[in-house]
Amino acid sequence: MAQRYVRVQNLEGQIYYGLLQLSLKVQLLDAPPWLQGQLTDLTLEPDSYQILAPCAPSKIVAVGKNYAAHAAEMETEVPPEPLIFLKPPTSVIASLQEIQYPHQSQRVDYEGELALVIGDRAADCTPEEAQMKIWGYTIANDVTARDLQRKDGQWTRAKSFDTFCPLGPWIVRELSPGARLQTFLNESSTPVQSASIDQMVFSPDFLVSYISKVMTLLPGDVVLTGTPFGVGPLKIGDRVRVEIEGIGRLENTVVARN
Ligand code: MG
Repeated sequence: MAQRYVRVQNLEGQIYYGLLQLSLKVQLLDAPPWLQGQLTDLTLEPDSYQILAPCAPSKIVAVGKNYAAHAAEMETEVPPEPLIFLKPPTSVIASLQEIQYPHQSQRVDYEGELALVIGDRAADCTPEEAQMKIWGYTIANDVTARDLQRKDGQWTRAKSFDTFCPLGPWIVRELSPGARLQTFLNESSTPVQSASIDQMVFSPDFLVSYISKVMTLLPGDVVLTGTPFGVGPLKIGDRVRVEIEGIGRLENTVVARN
């Protein structure tokens, strides 16, 4: 199994980066791994930490309509160049934390996505350079208030509610190019989304290069690479699970926002 890089909080509230062992102990690093964090001889026992989102991005840059079948289901064309938008860092939650359904919306959708974690400052990169800036891969759910997205005509409100960016549970450094992404609701074993990540219109290297020509990406920043066909609504009480082969599963339940 690939190394699983996690970010955790101990019972005293201190935050660490580390490696999740098969025993579920976490071997601690002395810094984020993309900032040359080194393994220490400290470990946390399985019952002595809570798993957090695996990085703390300064920004999340997301890409719309990056799978042709999803663009078609939205009754739009694939854009001629990547369509990018931002989600705020305050939208991030970890696996097993709760998605809060906001009272302003009557239609909140899941969007399972591959997330890229940037390891090195990236400005004005070629696709070849961009490839070196991608430190690893994790899973995201680009939760979207679809009715507000349509109503507002731009996407900030719809994409930015607190808890609208489940991320994790951990980062792996390598990913098979044909890895399958699947989203499941509740107890169903039939996925509502199922695609191979190589069906993306614009590749991860191209996306990071493109974004880096607009804004500097910093270590720990996250790029969401778009959702495949099959987006649909969440209800209060639902459990949504996004799986990517070779990474793992990101699972969250939906509650009403107070
Ligand atoms: Mg999306």
